[in-house]
Amino acid sequence: MTMDTDIVVIGAGIAGASVAARLAPHASVVLLEREDQPGYHSTGRSAATFVPGYGPPSIISLTSASRSFFMSPDDGFCDGPLLSPRGILMIGGEGDGDHVREAQELGMVQMSLDEAKDRVPPLKTDAVSVALIDEGALDIDVDLLHQGFLREFRRLAGQLHCRAEVKALSREGTGWLVETSAGDWRTPLVVNAAGAWCDAVAALAGVRPVGLQPKRRSAALITPPDSWDISNYPLVFGAGETFYFKPMSGKLMVSPADATVVEPHDAWADDMLIAEAIDKFQQVMDVEVRRLDHTWGGLRTFGSDGDPVVGYDPEVSGFFWLAGQGGYGIQTSPTLSRLAAALALSQTIPGDIVAAGVDVSALSPARFHGAAV
Ligand SMILES: Cc1cc2nc3c(=O)[nH]c(=O)nc-3n(C[C@H](O)[C@H](O)[C@H](O)COP(=O)(O)OP(=O)(O)OC[C@H]3O[C@@H](n4cnc5c(N)ncnc54)[C@H](O)[C@@H]3O)c2cc1C
Repeated sequence: MTMDTDIVVIGAGIAGASVAARLAPHASVVLLEREDQPGYHSTGRSAATFVPGYGPPSIISLTSASRSFFMSPDDGFCDGPLLSPRGILMIGGEGDGDHVREAQELGMVQMSLDEAKDRVPPLKTDAVSVALIDEGALDIDVDLLHQGFLREFRRLAGQLHCRAEVKALSREGTGWLVETSAGDWRTPLVVNAAGAWCDAVAALAGVRPVGLQPKRRSAALITPPDSWDISNYPLVFGAGETFYFKPMSGKLMVSPADATVVEPHDAWADDMLIAEAIDKFQQVMDVEVRRLDHTWGGLRTFGSDGDPVVGYDPEVSGFFWLAGQGGYGIQTSPTLSRLAAALALSQTIPGDIVAAGVDVSALSPARFHGAAV
């Protein structure tokens, strides 16, 4: 049996969940997820950090406009804080002058090595010659955020279907027939929020891909020595983003900060790069790592110019893109979802998003096709 709905959103990561929740007050919405549970891919594998000065200008504006939602989400959205203090500490050596200048331009403040050691006592100050801090970086409770959007979506009568892989998208009249492993839907509007697979979903619909670039990032969890109180460590990264580590679930996440261009897939960690990151970690921290508790990989998917892709496809009607959030899809989701919903419903862009300097035309998929925006 084929069912009818106003909107089909494909992908229940943070992008699909958040935009579905924003669309649900205005229309009947079906959210389709291929996996057994939402958040299995990039959304469940992130570093869970909110860094205001991180990324290209479009991301900085989107992040800035998202702060108020994180600080005071809608009533009933969640039962705890979405953000908590973390801070971000850059460490470097001789020859990192350019990175230091760049970090200072982004608002990071130089601190003495003694001060850095106060923050991270096992730091080997003889292995580091410069340290800069940004206290504005925060931890995000990604699960609370994601579940908050999904709960809001269901409360508004939205339907989430897991194990519902979209296998075919064909024209039916002016709309679409969406064929999945869990049933078929007829809809006038498809929202493509399939993360690393957005170009593949476009191809199913006969829509020209926009050239998204999934980049793999690897990570490992290690158990710190019992004598370390890591709870207040900042996220620490090597100048030039050579590696980073941060507290996560009572352990330390260590990442080589890799960005290897790959095809969309269920990502796993690059063991060689993890070994190199652990080596860098041991060079600056007074510890020998004997065991990795867990490793994982995730995809950060970028527009080919580094900016997200948000808006109606300029060539094929009823096909809307919400893609290319790169390494910032969690921290920008409150605003990207509101922007996407306003554009999809042909509503006025909320004033605070405009005031934050978000340039809608710079995010439009039309920029890849030479079409008027
Ligand atoms: C190691 C790492 C660290 C990161 N750190 C941060 C950070 O600190 N802060 C931050 O803001 N961001 C961070 N990110 C980026 C962030 O995780 C992503 O930008 C975000 O999760 C992307 O969300 P998404 O919903 O677009 O993609 P996903 O979470 O991948 O969701 C896409 C969904 O679409 C589904 N799908 C695909 N094809 C189909 C189909 N045909 N039918 C049905 N469903 C389909 C997939 O199964 C998937 O669940 C990090 C990413 C990684 C990997």
